[in-house]
Amino acid sequence: MTGLAVALDDILAARDRIAERVRRTSLLSDPVLTDRFGVPVAMKAEHRQETGSFKLRGASNALLSLPPERLARGVVTASTGNHGRALAHAARLAGVRAVVCLSRLVPANKIAAIAALGAELRIAGASQDEAMAEVARAAVGDGLTAIPPFDDPAVVAGQGTLGLEIAEDCPEAATVLVPLSGGGLAAGVAVAVKALRPGAKVIGVTMETGAAMAASLAAGRPVEVVEGPSLADSLGGGIGLENRVTFPICRALLDGAVLVSEAEIAAAIRHLVALGETVEGAAAVGTAALLAGKVRATGPVVTILSGGNIDPALHARILAGANGPEAA
Ligand SMILES: *Cc1c(COP(=O)(O)O)cnc(C)c1O
Repeated sequence: MTGLAVALDDILAARDRIAERVRRTSLLSDPVLTDRFGVPVAMKAEHRQETGSFKLRGASNALLSLPPERLARGVVTASTGNHGRALAHAARLAGVRAVVCLSRLVPANKIAAIAALGAELRIAGASQDEAMAEVARAAVGDGLTAIPPFDDPAVVAGQGTLGLEIAEDCPEAATVLVPLSGGGLAAGVAVAVKALRPGAKVIGVTMETGAAMAASLAAGRPVEVVEGPSLADSLGGGIGLENRVTFPICRALLDGAVLVSEAEIAAAIRHLVALGETVEGAAAVGTAALLAGKVRATGPVVTILSGGNIDPALHARILAGANGPEAA
């Protein structure tokens, strides 16, 4: 695996660095799919991670990897979702400043959640792109360090700690299904799993609408795609035409990318509720691919319940039968 920006050693170092700041989450059994396929199907319970998603691993590792004088000045991001929340939390634990840049479109409840973690908010621009430009200005002007949501070796190494735990807790794992957006999670998990279990297949799963990494892998280079609303809102966004880290790793190590529909994601959310697990759409895609028969269940299979931060009203609509993101 020479030539890739992240190696197993980086992930082992990340684990030591973040050990006291993140939970080691458990591996749960899916008894229904285990019965259906006749092989063990397990779920990595990362929706029970502090801040409700695995993003805390990468954000913590990136923050704690900074030289002390840069760390002391603080960090900045434009993510309003799980990465923004994780970075705000990690910065508070480290006792440093966090600035989260938002567009005017971000809903008030999300703004309140980020503010409650002690992050400073900068509301700028009518779009996420304009908020990103504000990040760059803040980073330069205030001496803050930008922590990107995925395309960064320290972020990927942090997400890879989740792969170490899978390899340890399910040493025979034959198939690992990873939710795929910018590819930080998939890249980190693939580096860890392939290093420790070379025979295991690592497959990215994403939604049909606006699957930027899947389209980029098919094209052989980073491409842009048209986005639409999805139940898997945490899987939205591009991979960056200047992608340096996650695209090369995903291209080298992933054994495929599978797309699931909105109705398949909704069915998986309902399936998981029946098992007692409340997850967001992005976290349900591996289960969706299995339920829909879109991956060969060579077992043991491990899915990653990557986050639990679903809007309660949306969750209730899905349980009532909604099969897409629009209000019924
Ligand atoms: C960010 C996120 C993903 C995708 O991770 P990438 O590193 O961008 O591929 C999946 N699930 C949840 C819950 C997320 O927050």
